[in-house]
Amino acid sequence: MLAVVLEQKHVLRLREIALAEEPGPHDVRIRIHTVGVCGSDVHYYRHGAIGPFVVREPLVLGHEAAGTVVEVGRAVPHLRVGDRVCMEPGIPDAGSRAARLGRYNLDPAVRFWATPPVHGCLRPTVVHPAAFTFRLPDNVSFAEGAMVEPLAVGMHAVNKARVRPGDVAVVIGAGPIGLLTALAALAGGCSRIFVSDVVPERLSLAAGLGPVTPVDVRHENLAGVVRQATDGWGADHVFEASGHGAALSDALAALAPGGAVTLIGMPGAPVPIDVVAAQVKEARIETVFRYAHMFPRALALMEIGALNVRSLITDRFPFGDSSAAFDYAASPKPATVKIQIELP
Ligand code: ZN
Repeated sequence: MLAVVLEQKHVLRLREIALAEEPGPHDVRIRIHTVGVCGSDVHYYRHGAIGPFVVREPLVLGHEAAGTVVEVGRAVPHLRVGDRVCMEPGIPDAGSRAARLGRYNLDPAVRFWATPPVHGCLRPTVVHPAAFTFRLPDNVSFAEGAMVEPLAVGMHAVNKARVRPGDVAVVIGAGPIGLLTALAALAGGCSRIFVSDVVPERLSLAAGLGPVTPVDVRHENLAGVVRQATDGWGADHVFEASGHGAALSDALAALAPGGAVTLIGMPGAPVPIDVVAAQVKEARIETVFRYAHMFPRALALMEIGALNVRSLITDRFPFGDSSAAFDYAASPKPATVKIQIELP
């Protein structure tokens, strides 16, 4: 089939690749409609590796997808041909210790789309386990459905942070994950969110998401702004979504006593931490790796209108222009948040 294949770093081709897949009794075949371009896809394109995952063989990219069910395994009770769906891209070993503990995202044997050597979904069809395939509500478009994967990261972060009604939160970094985390935090009950970044276009987009105060850290001190707005107390939660190591000290400075810092962004190198600055606030530090059990919750919030991702989908490319989409994604305009590719 025709697929977006990363041959090696910097070499991306839309070309035929042999991918023979037959659905088993618990699988469905899905015709792909929309695929989001993720930072990880672009990282593989530019660098050929993420940490220990190295592209050694041609790799089909893409893991944020929505489409239509075209074939259903005989033991699948909940999906039918014609259902519009989105898919969780990471499939754990169901019998693994992590999966049995309900933390299947931490299964070392998880097979995740577009993570070498597992092919991704930038291709006309995929065969996928029905248990990781979720029907889209009628009012959720394919484009929105393809946003559920990155949204699930933000949902998982808000869940691990244990947000309570009325909490105040800070989100550091207004990229796709930061903005989706802000939306998840608002849907989860936060009354006010401060979003920091250095790109004015992204900050103004953030300000349109709800009770969000944008903080341009080129000109303003994040902790100062937060403290001033909270009677000197600080924020109950800080979500670090920039991946910049230096942001951790900003996070601790903006945090309220007893608050939680949740680390989402992945720095490229080890980061020093001021332990005492964390101790004097008894800061709780949480980390997230992808997500578990978040797709149904995200879709339920989208269905009732409590969470709307549309303004974050800023750029669309047709499948035939996938190479151009990745070149654009490697150096996008400042206003770009999420780039999506639409299949014919
Ligand atoms: Zn992603």
